[in-house]
Amino acid sequence: MSVTDRCDFRCVYCMGENMTFLPRSQILSLEELDIIGRAFINLGVKKIRVTGGEPLVRKNVLTLLTRLGHNKGLNELALTTNGSQLKRLALPLKKSGVRRINVSLDSLQPEKFRKITRNGNLNHVLAGISSAKKAGFQRVKINTVVMKNRNDEEIIDLTEYALDNDLDISFIEEMPLGEIDEHNRALTFCSSREIREIIGEKYDLVPSTITTGGPSRYWSVPGYESRLGFISPHSENFCADCNRVRLTAEGKLLLCLGNEHSVDLRAVIRSHPGDNARLTDTIVNAMTIKPERHYFDLNEKPKILRFMNTTGG
Ligand code: SAM
Ligand code: SF4
Repeated sequence: MSVTDRCDFRCVYCMGENMTFLPRSQILSLEELDIIGRAFINLGVKKIRVTGGEPLVRKNVLTLLTRLGHNKGLNELALTTNGSQLKRLALPLKKSGVRRINVSLDSLQPEKFRKITRNGNLNHVLAGISSAKKAGFQRVKINTVVMKNRNDEEIIDLTEYALDNDLDISFIEEMPLGEIDEHNRALTFCSSREIREIIGEKYDLVPSTITTGGPSRYWSVPGYESRLGFISPHSENFCADCNRVRLTAEGKLLLCLGNEHSVDLRAVIRSHPGDNARLTDTIVNAMTIKPERHYFDLNEKPKILRFMNTTGG
Protein backbone atom coordinates (compact mmCIF):
# COMPACT_ATOMS: atom_id res chain seq x y z
CA MET A 1 0.00 0.00 0.00
CA SER A 2 1.68 3.20 -1.16
CA VAL A 3 0.60 6.16 0.98
CA THR A 4 2.38 8.85 -1.04
CA ASP A 5 4.41 9.18 -4.24
CA ARG A 6 6.49 11.96 -2.63
CA CYS A 7 9.89 11.46 -1.08
CA ASP A 8 12.67 13.41 0.62
CA PHE A 9 15.24 11.36 -1.38
CA ARG A 10 15.47 10.88 -5.14
CA CYS A 11 17.31 7.60 -5.54
CA VAL A 12 18.89 7.24 -8.97
CA TYR A 13 17.14 3.95 -9.75
CA CYS A 14 13.76 4.99 -8.38
CA MET A 15 13.13 8.46 -9.78
CA GLY A 16 13.94 10.49 -12.87
CA GLU A 17 15.93 13.71 -12.49
CA ASN A 18 12.94 16.00 -13.01
CA MET A 19 10.31 13.96 -11.26
CA THR A 20 6.91 15.57 -10.81
CA PHE A 21 4.46 14.35 -8.19
CA LEU A 22 0.70 13.84 -8.36
CA PRO A 23 -1.60 16.71 -7.33
CA ARG A 24 -2.91 16.20 -3.80
CA SER A 25 -6.56 15.77 -4.90
CA GLN A 26 -5.54 12.65 -6.83
CA ILE A 27 -3.91 11.03 -3.80
CA LEU A 28 -6.07 8.84 -1.56
CA SER A 29 -6.83 10.41 1.83
CA LEU A 30 -5.79 8.51 4.96
CA GLU A 31 -9.46 7.70 5.50
CA GLU A 32 -9.74 6.26 1.96
CA LEU A 33 -6.56 4.23 2.48
CA ASP A 34 -8.04 2.84 5.68
CA ILE A 35 -11.31 1.89 3.94
CA ILE A 36 -9.42 -0.01 1.24
CA GLY A 37 -7.07 -1.61 3.80
CA ARG A 38 -10.04 -2.81 5.82
CA ALA A 39 -11.73 -4.24 2.72
CA PHE A 40 -8.63 -6.35 2.05
CA ILE A 41 -8.44 -7.48 5.70
CA ASN A 42 -12.13 -8.46 5.64
CA LEU A 43 -11.37 -10.54 2.56
CA GLY A 44 -8.73 -12.46 4.54
CA VAL A 45 -5.52 -10.58 3.76
CA LYS A 46 -3.15 -11.12 6.72
CA LYS A 47 -0.22 -8.90 5.80
CA ILE A 48 -0.10 -5.29 4.64
CA ARG A 49 3.09 -3.41 3.83
CA VAL A 50 2.91 0.38 3.93
CA THR A 51 5.32 2.03 1.52
CA GLY A 52 5.62 4.90 -0.96
CA GLY A 53 7.37 7.24 -2.00
CA GLU A 54 8.51 7.77 1.53
CA PRO A 55 5.65 6.74 3.85
CA LEU A 56 7.06 8.63 6.84
CA VAL A 57 6.86 12.02 5.08
CA ARG A 58 3.09 11.61 4.68
CA LYS A 59 1.42 13.92 7.22
CA ASN A 60 -0.39 12.04 10.01
CA VAL A 61 0.62 8.64 8.63
CA LEU A 62 0.70 7.32 12.22
CA THR A 63 -3.09 7.68 12.36
CA LEU A 64 -3.47 5.25 9.46
CA LEU A 65 -0.79 2.90 10.81
CA THR A 66 -2.47 2.80 14.22
CA ARG A 67 -5.83 1.93 12.67
CA LEU A 68 -4.38 -0.83 10.51
CA GLY A 69 -2.00 -1.97 13.25
CA HIS A 70 -4.82 -2.49 15.74
CA ASN A 71 -7.09 -4.32 13.31
CA LYS A 72 -7.47 -7.80 14.82
CA GLY A 73 -7.82 -9.41 11.40
CA LEU A 74 -4.29 -8.48 10.37
CA ASN A 75 -1.30 -10.61 11.43
CA GLU A 76 1.42 -8.31 10.20
CA LEU A 77 1.69 -4.62 9.43
CA ALA A 78 5.04 -3.93 7.78
CA LEU A 79 6.70 -0.70 6.68
CA THR A 80 9.31 0.03 4.01
CA THR A 81 11.14 3.31 4.58
CA ASN A 82 14.29 5.17 3.58
CA GLY A 83 14.99 5.65 7.29
CA SER A 84 15.37 9.44 7.16
CA GLN A 85 12.65 9.99 9.79
CA LEU A 86 13.14 6.76 11.72
CA LYS A 87 15.15 8.11 14.65
CA ARG A 88 12.22 10.38 15.57
CA LEU A 89 9.47 7.91 14.73
CA ALA A 90 10.77 4.46 15.74
CA LEU A 91 8.97 4.38 19.09
CA PRO A 92 5.62 5.80 17.87
CA LEU A 93 5.78 3.27 15.02
CA LYS A 94 6.26 0.43 17.47
CA LYS A 95 3.27 1.68 19.49
CA SER A 96 1.14 2.00 16.34
CA GLY A 97 1.31 -1.76 15.80
CA VAL A 98 3.86 -1.87 12.94
CA ARG A 99 5.53 -5.28 13.32
CA ARG A 100 8.35 -5.22 10.79
CA ILE A 101 10.48 -2.50 9.24
CA ASN A 102 12.56 -2.60 6.06
CA VAL A 103 15.07 0.21 5.56
CA SER A 104 16.69 0.98 2.21
CA LEU A 105 20.47 1.34 2.47
CA ASP A 106 22.71 1.19 -0.60
CA SER A 107 26.00 2.43 0.80
CA LEU A 108 27.86 2.87 4.07
CA GLN A 109 29.96 5.69 2.61
CA PRO A 110 28.36 9.10 3.35
CA GLU A 111 29.31 10.79 0.06
CA LYS A 112 28.32 7.82 -2.10
CA PHE A 113 25.08 7.44 -0.15
CA ARG A 114 24.30 11.10 -0.83
CA LYS A 115 24.99 10.64 -4.56
CA ILE A 116 22.82 7.52 -4.92
CA THR A 117 19.92 9.06 -2.99
CA ARG A 118 20.65 12.47 -4.57
CA ASN A 119 20.41 14.15 -1.13
CA GLY A 120 20.18 11.59 1.68
CA ASN A 121 22.13 11.79 4.93
CA LEU A 122 23.69 8.42 5.84
CA ASN A 123 24.12 9.27 9.54
CA HIS A 124 20.40 9.99 9.92
CA VAL A 125 19.54 6.62 8.39
CA LEU A 126 22.04 4.67 10.50
CA ALA A 127 20.73 6.42 13.62
CA GLY A 128 17.20 5.51 12.52
CA ILE A 129 18.11 1.83 12.14
CA SER A 130 19.63 1.76 15.60
CA SER A 131 16.54 3.52 17.06
CA ALA A 132 14.32 0.88 15.45
CA LYS A 133 16.35 -1.87 17.14
CA LYS A 134 16.19 -0.01 20.47
CA ALA A 135 12.43 0.47 20.12
CA GLY A 136 12.11 -3.31 20.07
CA PHE A 137 11.61 -4.12 16.38
CA GLN A 138 12.78 -7.70 16.03
CA ARG A 139 13.80 -8.33 12.47
CA VAL A 140 14.79 -5.02 10.95
CA LYS A 141 15.73 -5.64 7.32
CA ILE A 142 18.05 -3.67 5.06
CA ASN A 143 17.16 -3.46 1.35
CA THR A 144 20.13 -2.86 -0.95
CA VAL A 145 19.80 -2.34 -4.70
CA VAL A 146 23.17 -3.48 -6.09
CA MET A 147 24.65 -1.72 -9.11
CA LYS A 148 28.01 -2.56 -10.71
CA ASN A 149 30.69 0.12 -10.38
CA ARG A 150 28.46 1.95 -7.96
CA ASN A 151 28.05 -0.02 -4.76
CA ASP A 152 29.06 -3.59 -5.69
CA GLU A 153 32.41 -3.13 -3.94
CA GLU A 154 30.46 -2.55 -0.69
CA ILE A 155 28.69 -5.94 -0.74
CA ILE A 156 31.00 -7.33 1.96
CA ASP A 157 30.83 -4.15 4.09
CA LEU A 158 27.03 -4.14 3.94
CA THR A 159 26.89 -7.86 4.75
CA GLU A 160 29.22 -7.31 7.70
CA TYR A 161 27.13 -4.38 8.93
CA ALA A 162 24.00 -6.56 8.82
CA LEU A 163 25.64 -9.57 10.50
CA ASP A 164 27.25 -7.49 13.27
CA ASN A 165 24.03 -5.64 14.07
CA ASP A 166 21.59 -8.60 13.89
CA LEU A 167 19.87 -7.15 10.86
CA ASP A 168 18.47 -9.07 7.92
CA ILE A 169 19.54 -7.84 4.51
CA SER A 170 18.11 -8.34 1.02
CA PHE A 171 20.17 -7.62 -2.07
CA ILE A 172 17.97 -6.50 -4.97
CA GLU A 173 18.53 -6.63 -8.74
CA GLU A 174 17.49 -3.27 -10.18
CA MET A 175 14.24 -3.37 -12.14
CA PRO A 176 13.76 -1.37 -15.36
CA LEU A 177 10.87 0.77 -14.12
CA GLY A 178 10.67 4.25 -15.63
CA GLU A 179 13.16 5.83 -18.05
CA ILE A 180 16.41 7.09 -16.54
CA ASP A 181 19.50 8.79 -18.04
CA GLU A 182 21.62 8.58 -14.92
CA HIS A 183 23.04 5.12 -15.65
CA ASN A 184 22.77 2.32 -18.17
CA ARG A 185 20.86 -0.47 -16.43
CA ALA A 186 22.32 -3.18 -18.66
CA LEU A 187 25.85 -2.12 -17.66
CA THR A 188 25.17 -1.72 -13.94
CA PHE A 189 23.20 -4.97 -13.64
CA CYS A 190 24.59 -7.26 -10.95
CA SER A 191 22.95 -10.68 -10.59
CA SER A 192 22.09 -12.35 -7.29
CA ARG A 193 24.45 -15.18 -8.22
CA GLU A 194 27.37 -12.75 -8.59
CA ILE A 195 26.50 -11.20 -5.23
CA ARG A 196 26.42 -14.62 -3.54
CA GLU A 197 29.80 -15.46 -5.09
CA ILE A 198 31.31 -12.29 -3.60
CA ILE A 199 29.83 -12.98 -0.16
CA GLY A 200 30.82 -16.65 -0.44
CA GLU A 201 34.51 -15.66 -0.67
CA LYS A 202 34.34 -14.46 2.94
CA TYR A 203 31.40 -16.27 4.56
CA ASP A 204 29.80 -19.72 4.40
CA LEU A 205 26.40 -19.22 2.78
CA VAL A 206 23.81 -21.86 3.61
CA PRO A 207 20.52 -21.92 1.65
CA SER A 208 17.54 -21.55 3.95
CA THR A 209 13.95 -22.72 3.59
CA ILE A 210 12.66 -19.66 5.49
CA THR A 211 10.11 -17.60 3.59
CA THR A 212 8.48 -14.32 4.59
CA GLY A 213 5.89 -14.53 1.82
CA GLY A 214 7.82 -11.98 -0.26
CA PRO A 215 10.16 -12.33 -3.24
CA SER A 216 13.38 -12.72 -1.18
CA ARG A 217 15.12 -16.09 -1.24
CA TYR A 218 17.03 -16.49 2.02
CA TRP A 219 20.44 -17.81 2.97
CA SER A 220 22.13 -17.84 6.37
CA VAL A 221 25.68 -17.65 7.71
CA PRO A 222 26.48 -20.16 10.50
CA GLY A 223 26.99 -18.40 13.83
CA TYR A 224 24.85 -15.37 12.93
CA GLU A 225 21.14 -14.59 13.40
CA SER A 226 20.81 -12.51 10.22
CA ARG A 227 19.07 -13.73 7.10
CA LEU A 228 20.65 -12.82 3.78
CA GLY A 229 17.99 -12.42 1.11
CA PHE A 230 18.21 -12.11 -2.66
CA ILE A 231 15.48 -10.51 -4.77
CA SER A 232 16.11 -11.55 -8.33
CA PRO A 233 13.44 -10.23 -10.70
CA HIS A 234 15.78 -10.88 -13.67
CA SER A 235 17.86 -13.92 -12.89
CA GLU A 236 15.68 -16.12 -10.69
CA ASN A 237 12.11 -15.27 -11.59
CA PHE A 238 9.85 -15.40 -8.53
CA CYS A 239 6.47 -14.87 -10.21
CA ALA A 240 5.17 -18.40 -9.56
CA ASP A 241 5.09 -17.76 -5.79
CA CYS A 242 3.81 -14.18 -5.95
CA ASN A 243 0.48 -13.45 -4.30
CA ARG A 244 1.13 -9.71 -3.88
CA VAL A 245 -0.97 -6.90 -5.20
CA ARG A 246 -0.12 -3.20 -4.78
CA LEU A 247 -2.23 -0.15 -4.18
CA THR A 248 -0.71 3.04 -5.60
CA ALA A 249 -1.07 6.37 -3.80
CA GLU A 250 -3.75 7.39 -6.33
CA GLY A 251 -5.78 4.27 -5.64
CA LYS A 252 -4.90 2.02 -8.56
CA LEU A 253 -4.78 -1.63 -7.61
CA LEU A 254 -1.79 -3.02 -9.53
CA LEU A 255 -1.76 -6.75 -10.03
CA CYS A 256 1.96 -6.99 -10.91
CA LEU A 257 5.03 -4.71 -10.66
CA GLY A 258 6.17 -5.62 -14.15
CA ASN A 259 2.83 -5.28 -15.97
CA GLU A 260 0.19 -2.59 -16.41
CA HIS A 261 -2.86 -4.66 -15.33
CA SER A 262 -4.74 -2.53 -12.82
CA VAL A 263 -8.15 -1.58 -11.45
CA ASP A 264 -9.14 1.90 -10.23
CA LEU A 265 -10.31 1.56 -6.61
CA ARG A 266 -10.36 5.33 -6.08
CA ALA A 267 -13.09 5.63 -8.72
CA VAL A 268 -15.12 2.97 -6.89
CA ILE A 269 -14.92 4.55 -3.43
CA ARG A 270 -15.37 8.11 -4.66
CA SER A 271 -18.37 7.33 -6.93
CA HIS A 272 -20.03 4.95 -4.46
CA PRO A 273 -19.07 6.10 -0.96
CA GLY A 274 -20.03 3.60 1.75
CA ASP A 275 -20.74 0.81 -0.75
CA ASN A 276 -18.44 -1.79 0.79
CA ALA A 277 -19.98 -4.66 -1.19
CA ARG A 278 -19.08 -2.94 -4.48
CA LEU A 279 -15.52 -2.33 -3.28
CA THR A 280 -15.14 -5.96 -2.18
CA ASP A 281 -16.53 -7.28 -5.50
CA THR A 282 -14.17 -5.05 -7.46
CA ILE A 283 -11.17 -6.34 -5.50
CA VAL A 284 -12.21 -9.99 -5.90
CA ASN A 285 -12.79 -9.57 -9.66
CA ALA A 286 -9.42 -7.84 -10.05
CA MET A 287 -7.63 -11.03 -8.98
CA THR A 288 -8.73 -12.73 -12.20
CA ILE A 289 -6.46 -10.42 -14.22
CA LYS A 290 -3.32 -10.98 -12.13
CA PRO A 291 -0.67 -11.76 -14.79
CA GLU A 292 1.20 -15.03 -14.71
CA ARG A 293 4.63 -13.37 -14.79
CA HIS A 294 6.66 -10.29 -15.74
CA TYR A 295 9.20 -9.98 -18.58
CA PHE A 296 12.11 -7.56 -18.09
CA ASP A 297 14.68 -6.88 -20.82
CA LEU A 298 17.54 -4.57 -19.85
CA ASN A 299 18.61 -4.09 -23.45
CA GLU A 300 15.28 -2.57 -24.46
CA LYS A 301 13.64 0.68 -23.41
CA PRO A 302 11.59 0.12 -20.23
CA LYS A 303 8.08 -1.08 -21.00
CA ILE A 304 6.82 0.11 -17.63
CA LEU A 305 7.04 3.88 -17.49
CA ARG A 306 6.07 4.34 -13.86
CA PHE A 307 8.87 4.62 -11.33
CA MET A 308 8.99 2.55 -8.17
CA ASN A 309 8.04 5.54 -5.99
CA THR A 310 4.45 5.18 -7.25
CA THR A 311 4.11 1.54 -6.23
CA GLY A 312 6.59 0.93 -3.41
CA GLY A 313 8.75 -2.20 -3.34
N1 SAM B 1 10.98 5.19 0.34
C1 SAM B 1 10.95 3.89 0.85
C2 SAM B 1 12.29 3.21 0.70
O1 SAM B 1 13.17 3.72 0.01
O2 SAM B 1 12.45 2.13 1.28
C3 SAM B 1 9.84 3.01 0.30
C4 SAM B 1 9.59 3.04 -1.16
S1 SAM B 1 10.89 2.43 -2.18
C5 SAM B 1 10.20 2.65 -3.79
C6 SAM B 1 10.74 0.71 -1.88
C7 SAM B 1 11.90 -0.14 -2.31
O3 SAM B 1 11.97 -0.15 -3.72
C8 SAM B 1 13.25 0.33 -1.81
O4 SAM B 1 13.88 -0.73 -1.12
C9 SAM B 1 14.00 0.65 -3.06
O5 SAM B 1 15.37 0.38 -2.93
C10 SAM B 1 13.33 -0.23 -4.09
N2 SAM B 1 13.47 0.22 -5.48
C11 SAM B 1 13.18 1.43 -5.99
N3 SAM B 1 13.39 1.47 -7.33
C12 SAM B 1 13.84 0.24 -7.67
C13 SAM B 1 14.21 -0.37 -8.90
N4 SAM B 1 14.19 0.29 -10.06
N5 SAM B 1 14.58 -1.67 -8.87
C14 SAM B 1 14.60 -2.36 -7.71
N6 SAM B 1 14.25 -1.86 -6.52
C15 SAM B 1 13.88 -0.56 -6.50
FE1 SF4 C 1 12.48 7.70 -2.19
FE2 SF4 C 1 12.53 5.15 -1.53
FE3 SF4 C 1 12.46 5.86 -4.07
FE4 SF4 C 1 14.65 6.32 -2.73
S1 SF4 C 1 13.80 4.31 -3.16
S2 SF4 C 1 13.62 7.78 -4.08
S3 SF4 C 1 13.89 6.74 -0.76
S4 SF4 C 1 10.88 6.20 -2.63
